[in-house]
Amino acid sequence: MQKVNYDRFLDEKLSMLQSSGEKPSLLLHSCCAPCTSSALERLFDSFRITLYFCNPNIAPEEEYIYRLNELKRFVAEVGADADIVSENYDPAPFYELSAGLEDAPERGERCRRCIGYRLRRSAEKAKELGCQWFTTTLTTSPHKDSQFINQCGDSLAVEYGVPYLFSEFRKHDGYKRSIELSRKYQLYRQNYCGCVFSRRGQSAPAQCSAPAEV
Ligand code: SF4
Repeated sequence: MQKVNYDRFLDEKLSMLQSSGEKPSLLLHSCCAPCTSSALERLFDSFRITLYFCNPNIAPEEEYIYRLNELKRFVAEVGADADIVSENYDPAPFYELSAGLEDAPERGERCRRCIGYRLRRSAEKAKELGCQWFTTTLTTSPHKDSQFINQCGDSLAVEYGVPYLFSEFRKHDGYKRSIELSRKYQLYRQNYCGCVFSRRGQSAPAQCSAPAEV
């Protein structure tokens, strides 16, 4: 099946907003500070942004707290006027959804469920907070299936009545820019995607962002 160019949709939306002068509210699900850095930079002039840190996949708890604190530090250091809403650490939903899929490969069924769950929580939170749009920074990573992420976001938009902002943040040099910003702000770049299973195989290309040594 032919791939959809979701970056083009985002580009058109941003141009439309820039010419209309509108600045709607957007809930931006954040997986980590490096992936958020360039996505936030691209969206910041066009949306009023609330960052949402909801990642029950991350283990252990110290890692979860560290990634969240890095996000807070980045936002404070760039002086971005964006609220950060975060969930307390609770990995139970992740272990429930991944049961029996411990050995599934990256981009397989476990990852689809993991991403689907985080997107669902984001759609729910966007609705609860009255945000006009929602999306995720997960498409910054070259290791993630952006076709799946956008299709999933689109179906949740219908279910929750909150439009999903299509994206492919790694394009437009977004991934390269996330590495530059990570260097500039000395952001922690994890060498595994997040869950215990990706940590086990951390020599495989499972990381959410760039390898720490890049
Ligand atoms: S590898 Fe990443 S996306 Fe896949 S299940 Fe683990 S944390 Fe989720």
